[in-house]
Amino acid sequence: MIAQPKASHFVDGAYLEDTAGAPIEVIYPGNGAVIATLYEATPKVIEAALASAKRAQKAWAALRPVERGRILRRAADIIRDRGAELAHLETLDTGKPVQETLVADWPSGADALEYFAGLAPTVTGETMPLGRDFAYTLREPLGVCVGIGAWNYPSQIACWKAAPALAMGNAMIFKPSEVTPLGALRLAEIFSQAGLPAGLFNVVQGRGAVGSALVADARVAKVSLTGSVGTGAKVYAAAAQGMKHVTMELGGKSPLIIFDDASLEDAVGAAMLANFYSSGQVCSNGTRVFVQKGLKERFLARLAERTAGIIAGDPMDEATQFGPLVSAAQQEKVLGYIAGAKAEGARLICGGGIGNAGGYFVEPTVFADVTDAMVLAREEVFGPVMAVLDFETEDEAVSRANATQFGLAAGVFTADMARAHRVIAALEAGTCWINAYNLTPVEVPFGGVKGSGVGRENSRAAVEHYSQVKSVYVGMGPVDAPY
Ligand code: NAD
Repeated sequence: MIAQPKASHFVDGAYLEDTAGAPIEVIYPGNGAVIATLYEATPKVIEAALASAKRAQKAWAALRPVERGRILRRAADIIRDRGAELAHLETLDTGKPVQETLVADWPSGADALEYFAGLAPTVTGETMPLGRDFAYTLREPLGVCVGIGAWNYPSQIACWKAAPALAMGNAMIFKPSEVTPLGALRLAEIFSQAGLPAGLFNVVQGRGAVGSALVADARVAKVSLTGSVGTGAKVYAAAAQGMKHVTMELGGKSPLIIFDDASLEDAVGAAMLANFYSSGQVCSNGTRVFVQKGLKERFLARLAERTAGIIAGDPMDEATQFGPLVSAAQQEKVLGYIAGAKAEGARLICGGGIGNAGGYFVEPTVFADVTDAMVLAREEVFGPVMAVLDFETEDEAVSRANATQFGLAAGVFTADMARAHRVIAALEAGTCWINAYNLTPVEVPFGGVKGSGVGRENSRAAVEHYSQVKSVYVGMGPVDAPY
């Protein structure tokens, strides 16, 4: 049990255990070993989390924003100081190579804490002159917020939700994915060490039922979910029962459109990043790569050549560029999509197997001659499987790119900037890139349209989703009553 935490939950400033809950085995995807056993939150644990969050929130909201920010900033500094240790834990939890977890996961979480620490004191209301009278607005916290995470970027997701929630004066109860429960507990410890009062960031473990118990509680004012579209629909509906605020960061099948005039090396590099980073387990991945006919064969040849050079192997080795999938179930699901694509007549360019690195690997895989009707072009695989589709005209590429229920992200590669902006304007997606892909700095809003969700994380836009406006009309003279 090389990663066994002190207890399963972190509630009211301390670790909390209740072994009456159903066990959750934490498995290292690099070799299938059980590295920790945790227990699902029982009703007693859930109640303790809700009660302490409710109790702590008012005093936290009453602090000066600069004081709240100082604590978040301290947490960001601790994360950076402990970068190597945290990356190691993230790799144990997810199987993603340390080459990634050292630079992408916790560091991005630290950026969010630093950003919202600085932003908190700048959030103010407005005044409205009304002649003799006037009015003003106050931006108030929502209260107790629930964060529910996915397993692909567990610690980053916890930080992206906690940072704006806490900065705006809310408390947060976070339920990590049952597949990757470890990082959020470490974040709770770090917050404590940074001086966050007890109860403001509680972590409770469990599967869907624990999440749904939290969402249903009357003390909860807001739910922010990162997960699949199916779960999003259920959680959104449950939140609606209590008229709760929601942020839904859901799945995608995003288009990456590459025109003939694009830089071949850049387009190939971006398509690889958009499909193979984190072994393809990234919600905003550009998994439908539309390549214009004139470039297609050169693109495929160079893509196969560069993909053959990817270093797969031990996730703990800093030289490793490509790790296993998060679980045996995910490996099986992805292999099922590969078999389906072959059966539907897509042309396998490279990969398709499990390789020989051990653990839950699936090789970086590319299919060409994919058509819009194939399952591979319609469903989110969440694995390292790139579908290359060809197109002839700009209008055709745009209309085919938009023909999906999803709308999380989109990318365009071209040397023609007028075309780049025109195409992006026509694409139905919340988060877009021109001649880049999958860069998500905290300064930029992140989120989807259509089936991919509602609300935005990161940037100033997140303030809207973790606070509400109170309007105050101030009468300055006698009351003018007609009776
Ligand atoms: P999932 O939907 O299976 O689970 C997400 C979380 O919801 C888990 O913590 C799970 O326990 C919880 N949950 C399940 N049922 C619930 C219910 N009824 N009520 C409350 N909570 C419930 O997703 P996953 O397999 O963990 O993650 C992969 C998915 O997440 C992919 O679809 C991916 O695209 C998406 N994702 C989106 C983003 C984004 O920012 N848009 C980021 C990462 C992952």
